[in-house]
Amino acid sequence: MTETAPLIEVDHLKKYFGDSSSIFKRNKDVVKAVDGVSFQIEKGETFGLVGESGSGKSTIGRSILRLHSITSGEVRYNGQSLHHLSKQEMRALRPKLQFIFQDPFSSLNPRIRIGDAIGEALLDHGLCSKEEVRGKVLEVLEICGLAPYHYDRFPHEFSGGQRQRIGIARAIILNPDFIVADEPVSALDVSIQAQIINLFSELQKEKEITFLFISHDLSVVEHLCSKIGVLYLGTMMELASRDKLYGNPLHPYTKALLSAVPIPDPTWKRERIIIKGDIPNPANPPKGCKFHTRCPLAKDICRVKVPEFREVEANHFVACHLV
Ligand code: ADP
Ligand code: MG
Repeated sequence: MTETAPLIEVDHLKKYFGDSSSIFKRNKDVVKAVDGVSFQIEKGETFGLVGESGSGKSTIGRSILRLHSITSGEVRYNGQSLHHLSKQEMRALRPKLQFIFQDPFSSLNPRIRIGDAIGEALLDHGLCSKEEVRGKVLEVLEICGLAPYHYDRFPHEFSGGQRQRIGIARAIILNPDFIVADEPVSALDVSIQAQIINLFSELQKEKEITFLFISHDLSVVEHLCSKIGVLYLGTMMELASRDKLYGNPLHPYTKALLSAVPIPDPTWKRERIIIKGDIPNPANPPKGCKFHTRCPLAKDICRVKVPEFREVEANHFVACHLV
């Protein structure tokens, strides 16, 4: 087997908000939403990014796809540095790099029929002729568990789960290499969540798509992701294969997140760790280890020294002084 480069490489990515050249911004207003994050996603892999609300997950997803500029670092797709491409070069790559939102409804025009909304980008990018669009849309409707008669319906006629299917259809019709799915099931009822997760797992099997799957819920990423990164206040705290992360979590933050996930087998006891308090203000994050203010195990060193993100066993990285 030949070694191939990862499809996506995120290299020391930083995204600060409010540090533009504006002279009115003081340094303390700078939000370090993403503060030096690195990870790689292999072709065909689904990488899960988890963490509480405000930890910088969406900002990473949007930065990768160049939906906004970055402060420093690099994002490479097939070895190509995306933020160095011209607008035209980026536009040519757009169909290959897609985004699925938590709320696809907000991106749908209420007066445009669903079939036309799904086919729109194909025409915009000149990927097929007007005559071919309908056939292609009907094909993805079926893949996404929607019916042909849905083609002529309007957005308000769909349920939450169906709207997410529409969001997925709009992304996959472009035959992308890579999709960022940002909390695609978080707004859905649990039973509907399971259906959409099943749809993702069918897409994984049948299409050669690489995913970045974002969720604040570790029980959601477990089903779909082979590798998982745990983010806290813009910093990667732990990164490992699914089996290592769930079987041998090392960071107290990961352990705390996992201890909140219900276990189907009640005889199996998991160490329960309660995280105290709220996530600190990212404009003024704690010194040392950013997690120390909420960590039940924090020692003196944690309050002063930033822990190194290091590989403690093969493909298992953690940033914690106590590991
Ligand atoms: P998550 O997706 O994990 O909930 P986000 O990436 O949305 O986190 O946000 C990370 C931090 O960056 C938050 O503190 C958020 O308020 C801030 N942030 C996100 N987008 C913007 C923006 N456009 N302008 C200013 N601050 C932002
Ligand atoms: Mg988000």
